[in-house]
Amino acid sequence: EKTGTCYRADHLLKDYCNEKLEKDLTISDKKATELKDVLANLEDFSCEKLGAKIKEYEITAPDTKNTLSDPYPFNLMFQTSIGPSAANIGYMRPETAQGIFMDFKELYNYNGRKLPFAAAQVGQAFRNEISPRQGLLRVREFTLAEIEHFLDPEDKAHPKFSNVAKLEFFMFQREEQMPGQSARKLCLGEAVEKGIVNSETLAYFIGRVYLFLVRLGIDKERLRFRQHLANEMAHYAADCWDAEIETSYGWIECVGIADRSSYDLHAHSEKSGVELQAEEKFSEPKEVVKLVITPMTKELSLAFKENKKKVVLSLKAMNEEEAMLMKATLESEGGIEFYVCTLAKNVTIKKNMVSISKEKTKEHQRKFIPSVIEPSFGIGRIVYCLYEHCFSTRPSKAGDEQLNVFRFSPLVAPIKCTVFPLVRNQQYEEATKVISKELTSFGILHKIDITGTSIGKKYARSDELGVPFAITVDSKTLVTIRERDSKNQVRVNLKDAASVVSSLAKGKMTWRDVSPKRLSSAAAADNTLAESMYPELFSLDGDDDSET
Ligand code: AMP
Repeated sequence: EKTGTCYRADHLLKDYCNEKLEKDLTISDKKATELKDVLANLEDFSCEKLGAKIKEYEITAPDTKNTLSDPYPFNLMFQTSIGPSAANIGYMRPETAQGIFMDFKELYNYNGRKLPFAAAQVGQAFRNEISPRQGLLRVREFTLAEIEHFLDPEDKAHPKFSNVAKLEFFMFQREEQMPGQSARKLCLGEAVEKGIVNSETLAYFIGRVYLFLVRLGIDKERLRFRQHLANEMAHYAADCWDAEIETSYGWIECVGIADRSSYDLHAHSEKSGVELQAEEKFSEPKEVVKLVITPMTKELSLAFKENKKKVVLSLKAMNEEEAMLMKATLESEGGIEFYVCTLAKNVTIKKNMVSISKEKTKEHQRKFIPSVIEPSFGIGRIVYCLYEHCFSTRPSKAGDEQLNVFRFSPLVAPIKCTVFPLVRNQQYEEATKVISKELTSFGILHKIDITGTSIGKKYARSDELGVPFAITVDSKTLVTIRERDSKNQVRVNLKDAASVVSSLAKGKMTWRDVSPKRLSSAAAADNTLAESMYPELFSLDGDDDSET
């Protein structure tokens, strides 16, 4: 109330309850149960209820301890104006997905009018977060990568599910998310069989997200898939799981994998009046019982004038259950209150305004609005978690210092290789430049280090940047490649060095493949010779920071 600083009301209440439960040993069992109950139902609290609880618990502003005003709703979408006139209001997209839904017709045609198919998009999303914090974890502009996989709601099997069905990892199902419980390892195939995950396709994407994150370098022991609680899930979602990664800030939601049913296409269709449907052609015509909704345009025009079109579209968009309920109420009571979302209000529909029936017809095809499964990746959050999971320290050889290491896998390491001469010598420096040029031609981002520092220091610098490989030029014809994590080294011909590192960096070859046996025989033989000539290069501890 004094400084005008804004806080998220639900966060204030959540922090208060957690702190009381963790730190206040004097609270009674009854109070503890009450606070746990608040935490479990927080997502469902109305603005008024949040305000009442904040008053009841006498919660004050965290930094100043000033009193707080009543909470008020806040739009997380950034408002802006489009073009020179301030009258054209626009909103920055809070997710990338909607562009894909708007393009559904084009994408469906492009895919030969067949389901399933998917479209993916990566780009910036904007949310006017009330309290951005924790570095990349909660920001107002962030990179989102989203896949929209469109499928037939009556067939949610996935042809490649068997590729991931045997994976086992931590899953935290809805029913088990009680205080004191934690995620347990489940086999994905079993989770589908038991109905824990609601479809094969949703599970397929959960499995692929797991493989993706682990391949990036996320520690699988600190990764779990948490199912949304019923009160967390958007009203239209059929099932939703978050890939959560444990960091020093706690468990962070990094990827959301949701079955959004047909909600988005439905809503765009309803608002724009453009049909966004797919069809399945039958080999033989089928006799079907069809719901027929016929709005009576004359009566609706008289009653709703310029709003008629919106009422008609909403009536036509009713599903079978809604339509049959309307029919029964119209017959018994003559009228019904009906919510038109495009008008954001109820209107009264009378018996003479719409005819609802079920008719038998022969159909050659089935038309339907596809469902969509959406994995949504917060790139910044994943990158941050990767930094934490890849970071480690190891003692220097002298044991007097802790050296920092980022164990980025070769696929994601920003710099793939460092190249340096063993000693300052014109020929070695020339060879270093030749290798650097070749690495550039392979598209391998690298660093060269021609400073006079010791080899141990150069390795330490390279490790700190997370560079997985280092090439040391130590003869006119042969060089040494050192791998960061094992600190093992092999000798290869100078002319092969760039291509070997390129294959390693692109994941075409693993370090295990680069055994002396697989290298050219000259280089293999020289590994033994070189070991006796340059013991410091072959010592298992490459962190030697003594001068060479
Ligand atoms: P949502 O649509 O809310 O499920 O968000 C999708 C993904 O975007 C989440 O799983 C997060 O990884 C990421 N995300 C959401 N909000 C933010 C934010 N404010 N800052 C950074 N990443 C975010």
